[in-house]
Amino acid sequence: MSIGNELRGAVDRGEIVAWFQPQVEVESGRVTAVEALARWQHPTRGLVSPVVFIPEAEDTGTIHEIGAHMLWEGCRHAARWRDRGFNVDVSVNVSAVQLAKPSVFAQLQDLLETFALPEGTLTIEITESQLIADLQEVATRLARLKSFGLGIALDDFGTGHSSLAQLQDLPITELKIDRSLIQATTSIGGELIALAVALLQERGVRVVAEGVETEEHLNRVRHLRCDRAQGYLFGRPMPVEEVDELLAHALA
Ligand code: C2E
Ligand code: MG
Ligand code: MG
Ligand code: MG
Repeated sequence: MSIGNELRGAVDRGEIVAWFQPQVEVESGRVTAVEALARWQHPTRGLVSPVVFIPEAEDTGTIHEIGAHMLWEGCRHAARWRDRGFNVDVSVNVSAVQLAKPSVFAQLQDLLETFALPEGTLTIEITESQLIADLQEVATRLARLKSFGLGIALDDFGTGHSSLAQLQDLPITELKIDRSLIQATTSIGGELIALAVALLQERGVRVVAEGVETEEHLNRVRHLRCDRAQGYLFGRPMPVEEVDELLAHALA
């Protein structure tokens, strides 16, 4: 059986689970958000990485079930954490394939209503390289979603080919700098990133650094004046029970 075939029904069988990775506010070090990351608990292969199964899911259409499940889980836990007094935002990755489906608007509006999530609590992350293909159409769709009170993050910034001009046209609320830029050993392009960060922050866009593994990376993040940081230095993606513990400790 191919991965693509085996993915059929995986959500219904309970094999797709949402793990979460903390994001900290750079200034205070507090956990202010988490990103939902899909894991496939395969009966014989073990834990399968989203790097392997998300592209298959996009090709075969199962991304719609998987994506809906991840959004549901993200919203459900966001509401649950709020109930417990934890003020934590939740980001969920959304594929361009999902974004292209007309029902995406009703789907997201329903979720925000069902879980009574305040504006900005839920952010959807769109990968830079998936965006640029049809920039105008995507920008229009994102603007509509943003008007619902959703946060819109441009993920993996620095891996695609978007220009500063294109960036300024996108109705985003958050920019996620790809880990390749945060972890780079030479500072080539550093000035440009700093410029992009400054430009977007001036317009109220939050800047998040990905892949922060070391104090050195964190220094770069501070130098760039990023708002939030995510990476192994603060915590790996973890099952939801571990997030509960982390939040409980942080508040105690
Ligand atoms: P992403 O959205 O950019 O997520 C960040 C990835 O970087 C995650 O990989 C995370 O585990 C990894 N990461 C976090 N901190 C560090 C670090 O300090 N060092 C290193 N080396 N890596 C770090 P993961 O969980 O394997 O996910 C890979 C990609 O799969 C995601 O990249 C995202 O594009 C995609 N993905 C994951 N879940 C979903 C989903 O539910 N829907 C969609 N459409 N895509 C998803
Ligand atoms: Mg992401
Ligand atoms: Mg990323
Ligand atoms: Mg990625």
